[in-house]
Amino acid sequence: MARKGFRFSLVDTRDNPPNLEQIRAEFSGIDLHLGELNPQYLMQASELVLSPGVSQQLPAIKEAVASGVSLIGDIDLFCREVSAPVVAITGSNAKSTVTTLVGEMAKSAGIDVGVGGNLGLPVLDMLAAGEQSLYVLELSSFQLETVHDLRAQVATVLNVSPDHLDRYDGMQGYYQAKHRIFRGCMSAVENRDDTLTHPLLPKGVELLGYRLSKPDFKVFGLLEESGVEWLAIGHDKLLPSRDIKMPGRHNVANALAALALGRAVNIPMAAMLDTLKTFGGLAHRCQWVANKAGLDFYNDSKGTNVGATVAALDGLGAGLSADQRIVLIAGGDGKGASFDDLITPVKRFVRSVVLIGQDANKISQTLVGVESSTHASLQDAVQRAVKVAKQGDIVLLSPACASIDMFKNYTQRGDQFVALVDAL
Ligand code: ADP
Repeated sequence: MARKGFRFSLVDTRDNPPNLEQIRAEFSGIDLHLGELNPQYLMQASELVLSPGVSQQLPAIKEAVASGVSLIGDIDLFCREVSAPVVAITGSNAKSTVTTLVGEMAKSAGIDVGVGGNLGLPVLDMLAAGEQSLYVLELSSFQLETVHDLRAQVATVLNVSPDHLDRYDGMQGYYQAKHRIFRGCMSAVENRDDTLTHPLLPKGVELLGYRLSKPDFKVFGLLEESGVEWLAIGHDKLLPSRDIKMPGRHNVANALAALALGRAVNIPMAAMLDTLKTFGGLAHRCQWVANKAGLDFYNDSKGTNVGATVAALDGLGAGLSADQRIVLIAGGDGKGASFDDLITPVKRFVRSVVLIGQDANKISQTLVGVESSTHASLQDAVQRAVKVAKQGDIVLLSPACASIDMFKNYTQRGDQFVALVDAL
C-alpha cells in the first residue's frame, strides 16, 4: 500500500506484534493501532483489508461492517492490480501440490509465471516483481472469506472434506467460503469424483472436469488399453499413468486436475506432460524418505486433516501386494473433526496404528478393533512402528491432525521424522 501511495493505518490486536521496530523504521510516521480492536476507529475507514489470520466474526469487525465499511482481503487487492490471467486453486487438500504443478508446467512451456498465495510468496509480495504473463494462486478458505470478485481465468475447488471446523460453524460455512473462488471466473474445473466441488456458474462460463474413471470431451480421465492405463481427454490418450513421477493414486487425480487447469489457460500439452514425468511432488506430501530394514518410509506430515490421511492411505494402499500393509503414525490436534472416515481405509490397508499427540485417545476410540498404541514422542512412535512392521511394509507418517500441540509446524514434524528414519 505504501508502494502504491495509498493512505492507510495498521491495526494489530497484539500490543507488541512481530517486526514492529522494522515497520516503524521503514514507514516513518505510520498510523499504528495496537491492542484490543476499537470498533469506533474501524468505522472511520473507507475500507478494511483483513489478514486471513483474523476472523470476520470478531465483534469490532462485525460492527464496522454493519455500519457500512467495506471489507476485503489481500486477494481482492491483488486482483485489482493485475491484468494477467489468474489460475485460482482451493480445496481441503492437494492445493500446494496442484498449484506448484501448474506453475512448473507453465515454466516448462517458457511462460513467465508468478506462483504464490497461501503457499510461498504472499500475493501482495508477488506484485513487487512486476507483472507476469500468468499467475497461479493457492487460496485457503480463510483467504476466500473476504473475496468479492476474483475474476480468475480458471478457478477450482479440488475437493471438500472436513477441516478447520474449529473456525467454521459447520461444513456449510466452510463449503461456502471455498466456493467464493468461482466469483466472476471465466472458466471452472470440477472434480467429478467429489460432488461438493461442483460450481454453480452463470451461463457461458466453460466447465471442465476430471475424474479417476472414463474421460469425456471436457473431462480429463483414465482409459485402459492392452492392460496399460492412460491419462486421457475425450478419445485422446495423453500419458501412461505409471509415467507420473509423483507417488500414490491420489496424485493421479492431482495430475488430471493440473492438466484441466493448464488447458484452460492454454499451457501447451507437451510441456504439461513433460512436467508430469519429472515433477516428483513436494516435501512432506507422501514423500518417500528411505528404505531401511526392508521397510519403505513415507513422510506425509502435511496430512493435517482426516481427508488428507484417507487419500494418503488409499493412494499408497492401491500399490500394495497381498501381504504388504501400512503401519500408520498419526495424531496431534484434530481441530474438532471426527475421525470416522479413517475407519474404512485403516481396516483395509493398515497393520497397526501408532499414535502421538493430544487426540491420540480420540483416534484409538474411533478405530475400535484395530491394533494401536500411544506414545509420548515421535521418536518412540518410530521405534514402535519399526517393531510392529513386517518385511515389505510401508511406515507412513500421516497424522490427520495439525502439529501445534507438539511441534512448531508440520515442517518441523516431518523433518524430525526424516531425521529419525535416517538415524535407524
Ligand atoms: P494443501 O496445500 O491443500 O494442504 P498439499 O498439496 O500440501 O495440499 O497436500 C496436503 C496433503 O493432502 C498431502 O500430504 C496428502 O496427504 C493429501 N492429498 C494430496 N492429494 C490429495 C487429493 N487429491 N485428495 C485428498 N488428499 C490429498
